[in-house]
Amino acid sequence: MELQKPIYFKDKELQGQITSDSKRISDYDISIATGKIVPDIQCIQKDRDLWRVYVKSTEGRSKLLREGFDIRNRHISVYDTNPYSAGLDSPNERVLKITVKGIPLSVDDGEIVKMLEQFDLNFTSELKYEHIRHPESKKMTGILNGNRFIYVSPLPDGKFLPRSCKCAGLHCLIYHYGQPSNKRTLKCTNCWEVNHSRNNCPNQSRCKVCKKEGHNPGDEACDEYSEPIPNVVPFAGASDVLSNFYPCELKAFGVTHRSSEHAFQYVKAVRSGDIPRANAIQSAPTALDAKRIGKTISASKSFEDSKLELMTEIIQAKFDQIPKFRESLSKAKKSGSVFVEATYDDYWASGLDKSGTIHTRPSSWPGQNKLGEILATVADSRPSSKQHHRSNSVPRPSKDASQLSISSMLKELQTPRKRDCSGSRKPSPKSQFDKNG
Ligand SMILES: [Zn+2]
Ligand SMILES: [Zn+2]
Repeated sequence: MELQKPIYFKDKELQGQITSDSKRISDYDISIATGKIVPDIQCIQKDRDLWRVYVKSTEGRSKLLREGFDIRNRHISVYDTNPYSAGLDSPNERVLKITVKGIPLSVDDGEIVKMLEQFDLNFTSELKYEHIRHPESKKMTGILNGNRFIYVSPLPDGKFLPRSCKCAGLHCLIYHYGQPSNKRTLKCTNCWEVNHSRNNCPNQSRCKVCKKEGHNPGDEACDEYSEPIPNVVPFAGASDVLSNFYPCELKAFGVTHRSSEHAFQYVKAVRSGDIPRANAIQSAPTALDAKRIGKTISASKSFEDSKLELMTEIIQAKFDQIPKFRESLSKAKKSGSVFVEATYDDYWASGLDKSGTIHTRPSSWPGQNKLGEILATVADSRPSSKQHHRSNSVPRPSKDASQLSISSMLKELQTPRKRDCSGSRKPSPKSQFDKNG
């Protein structure tokens, strides 16, 4: 049975002043009263002081929500949300539901509340747990899905919470109504609030890590300051072989690139069907040039969905083909290192410069360090003694349908162009990482 979300009202608001039980308004009375507004009432249910009325159609539900109903010469306004869950005192009061995802259930609620408190919210409810719902009937099951939510007073106009945030050293995602779905939320690089830019920042400069004024990340004054940790291996820049900016001749996706950054930007262009830019990236003199061209391309969904796998393939190819990279990585890996790209990128890197990275506790790096994680995985996945031998026991990125479509796009791309070393190679997924000869 498919169910709409119910509408709600409180029994104490319904009954008003009652003197005896015989005068109490019953579910039958409510069915007559609401039936005058909408014809398709499905269920009327009372749970302690809370009434739920289920209406079959979306239109009917909206109408009842808009108009309320009259009973015993009184008008009853109804609630869109469970008023007890949301902490509502009146149907006219508005609240905003904030959902936090991506946090293990084991993380204490207090940590999540603490994280949300930084946004100056007025909580109207306690933190609550979301349950798994049936995909079609939307009926709630007794099993939790790990998401937490809380109701707050509506945010001032134009204000919204950032989608990505850090809680108890973990990355989490925040969702609420009215939040721009665009992932590239404007974030000020002066005070780190969202929704304005550095150029019109009204605030004092703040530390990107602890959000306090008067120092930069990595400064001893920072709450998250740390002495350099010996096993943290920061990398950045063209002179560092661990960096994607390091120039090296790299074959990936059937063509030769000038760096792993070139390879990544190239595949972004191809996935967007932008062949002219793919060619421009391939011939860009430096990795920075390639990155700049890549920035002008809006990523396709297929690219966004698989960029981690694509980056892993590229790093694996670099590991196979560039001995200096393989040696550096294997050597550092032996000492149990944490690899971290020390740049301002909040997705691939620590989000901090080199000094900020080594002097900040890793759990407080604002960036997600995805590239560092990939380096660690690749270093683990294949011992250097087996470097020339591809083992099936090594976990490989999956070759899915989107992977095949990239091959066909590449075929098109290659046909009109002369290839020196790779033109004769079939860019099938299987041959992508085979060694020469
Ligand atoms: Zn600002
Ligand atoms: Zn700080």
